[in-house]
Amino acid sequence: MSSFKKGGIFILSSPSGAGKTTLVKKISKNRNFSVSVSHTTRSPRPNEKNGKDYFFISKNNFKKLIKKGEFLEHAKVFDNYYGSSKKLVNEKINKGKNIVFDIDWQGTRQIKNKSIKCKVLTIFILPPSKSELLKRLLKREKKNMKTVKKRMKEFKKDLLKWKEYDYVVINDKLNQCYRKIMKIIKNKNETIYDKKFISQHVKRLLN
Ligand code: ADP
Ligand code: 5GP
Repeated sequence: MSSFKKGGIFILSSPSGAGKTTLVKKISKNRNFSVSVSHTTRSPRPNEKNGKDYFFISKNNFKKLIKKGEFLEHAKVFDNYYGSSKKLVNEKINKGKNIVFDIDWQGTRQIKNKSIKCKVLTIFILPPSKSELLKRLLKREKKNMKTVKKRMKEFKKDLLKWKEYDYVVINDKLNQCYRKIMKIIKNKNETIYDKKFISQHVKRLLN
């Protein structure tokens, strides 16, 4: 990544259903913020649009893009491939945009291990409770139990990655959570969060 102006990379990760996509969309409405639209091999949900929510492509095409080195990071999540385009990210960074990523812990690790010449800040989102997470997944997946079960099964594994992130925020009331995140983003490294409280919350979620 060369000749960047002033943009930063802000990564949001969470167990599926905790609300990161909703939050990323809200953050991207701010001036000079933009979402990194990922490529995926999963099928679109009824409300999702190609090029806006994701670039929906076949597994074959995804593998071709990997071979050509087109991804800044990529990972297999819930039997599908997901990746962030190097070119699209570079374009935005070079324009001085702040880019918000909705990616999993594998992709976050990859980005953190790269020498990127702009600020990278990582935020992990937690649900208020396991029952609320299930409720959100059931609502979003229109009670498709196979998908809901698969995502709930991965929940604990994903949850344990919270320690790898710079900040952890609980998404109970959406607007409150959004305001906390914007404060973190604006204050950059000056905000602190209560690690002990979060650790206890994670313990409750794991029970
Ligand atoms: P993720 O991207 O983490 O998998 P989504 O953003 O798709 O999660 O959110 C899952 C579902 O929960 C969506 O239907 C969304 O509208 C809803 N949701 C997100 N945040 C909240 C919240 N704070 N309170 C209630 N529902 C929420
Ligand atoms: P979903 O299918 O619910 O949209 O996303 C499933 C998971 O894949 C989520 O954890 C989401 O953050 C992650 N994901 C989405 N896009 C990318 C990406 O480009 N790279 C990586 N590593 N993960 C992604």
